[in-house]
Amino acid sequence: MSAVPPGARDAVLKFYFGPMDCGKSTLALQMNYNHRRQGRRGLVLTKHDRSGGPKVTSRIGLGLEAIEVEDSLDLVGLVAGHDRIDYLICDEACFYTVEQIEQLADLVDSYGVDVYAFGLASDFRSVMFPAAQRLFELADEVCRLQVEVLCWCGRPGRLNARVVGGAMARTGEQVVIGDTDDAPVRYQVLCRRHHRAGQLGEGAGTETSGMRSAV
Ligand SMILES: [Zn+2]
Repeated sequence: MSAVPPGARDAVLKFYFGPMDCGKSTLALQMNYNHRRQGRRGLVLTKHDRSGGPKVTSRIGLGLEAIEVEDSLDLVGLVAGHDRIDYLICDEACFYTVEQIEQLADLVDSYGVDVYAFGLASDFRSVMFPAAQRLFELADEVCRLQVEVLCWCGRPGRLNARVVGGAMARTGEQVVIGDTDDAPVRYQVLCRRHHRAGQLGEGAGTETSGMRSAV
């Protein structure tokens, strides 16, 4: 890995955020495909993907092997261990450590690696994830993804609710895996009004996606 030569184009750090089901992982996979077609070399990273393995999977059925970002993984070291890396696709970046977000900024500024990060902004309480907050602070560009995720009332779905035993939870661990077949925890996207009111809509208690997510 070589340092950026003087006068070279600046690399970019971009953060794409939105609630569950807004197409983040689909866009991450599409972006990887586009860059690869241009002959660029990149790595795809994820953490707690819904597949449960080191893969980026999207709810519409695309999938790709990916590197699982453990808390101890040094992202600068990861890139340095490869021959030439032009870009990183960082899915589920909201679950990375704050230190890893700093490492992403280092890769952009010192090594000219483009970083495209995807993730949730806030947890089930509507409180921002620390890594997402750091991305908001450091990113060159921040984009809200709003791909027709609707609350049961028809308003745009902006926040993730954690549902435990049919009721909306307001307290608990920031990250709990849910939406597995037998998990007592599931997640539901709500508009701000109904997230604040804790109203899950009719019939919401029975629906299950059968897929994993960690919000
Ligand atoms: Zn609503």
